Amino acid sequence: MPRLPVALALLAALAGGALGDEKPAAEWVPSQHFTPAEGRPVRYIVIHTIEGSYEGCLRWFQNPKSKVSAHFVVSFDGRIAQTVREEDVAWHAGVRLYNDEGIGIEHEGYAAKDGWTAREYEASARLARYLCRRYGIPVDRTHLLAHSEIAPGRKEDPGPHFDWDRYLALIRSGDETQPPARAGTPPEQKSRLAEVLERARRYEENDRLLPAHENFRWIADNFGDEDGPEVAQAREAIERILSDPVRHARIEEERIRQEIGIWMGWGKTYAGVEKYEKAREYFERVILVYPDRLESREAQRRLEAVEAKIAGDGR
Ligand SMILES: [Zn+2]
Repeated sequence: MPRLPVALALLAALAGGALGDEKPAAEWVPSQHFTPAEGRPVRYIVIHTIEGSYEGCLRWFQNPKSKVSAHFVVSFDGRIAQTVREEDVAWHAGVRLYNDEGIGIEHEGYAAKDGWTAREYEASARLARYLCRRYGIPVDRTHLLAHSEIAPGRKEDPGPHFDWDRYLALIRSGDETQPPARAGTPPEQKSRLAEVLERARRYEENDRLLPAHENFRWIADNFGDEDGPEVAQAREAIERILSDPVRHARIEEERIRQEIGIWMGWGKTYAGVEKYEKAREYFERVILVYPDRLESREAQRRLEAVEAKIAGDGR
């Protein structure tokens, strides 16, 4: 049940402001990982990628053992979840100052992969605009920061594919004193529409449902009907695939397998170069987010090996 204080809504109403300044709708999925901090200053927004799915992230933040959270999580299709009250300190930055004085926004996706969608940019920008207005945060790269910038060498997110210019322009587009933003989607993406639709159909024909669904969804999440007939066709395809319970279940299974595969891969990679703390993080994620899966047993074995190394190093 939402614990959003009435005072917050009142404040926003009193502040007035232009259209588009209201707090965007967010589902409240509370995490127990926060430090109560009524009246703290909010000066920064820290941008993250989850390194996984929206659903997986919410489960991760709710797991008592993960000891991490962020204030907000944004999905590919533009949904927003709030997991920590803005007044409180969330545990996302790994750096005291930015936890204490920052708001953390997590984004579905991977730092190394260009999976960003227009809906994700727009939802996050709407949220950031509200936060900037509410707390008087300047819309610039001194106050909106990448996790990798405040934790260099330790974190890579949101990665090289995150388009900061596009993001800042979207945030400013709600402010008439700032230059207008580019339209929601860059033209070079629009020219890829037909190509991506074609590729999605080939995947579907070859019964490769996860990449088929991902490609159809990329279109649905990036474009509107005005962009061409491909958009309606992609939406129909998604509807067709997901309305079949067997195919729906298969996509979910493949998605989880892929997510676990990526986390296991990172865990092994970091263990291989003796970055045991980071390796531990990924093996723990597999175990905590997907405790009932067979892969968790292997993750558990690897976690124990990594913990032995960490204990050994600490002698
Ligand atoms: Zn991060």
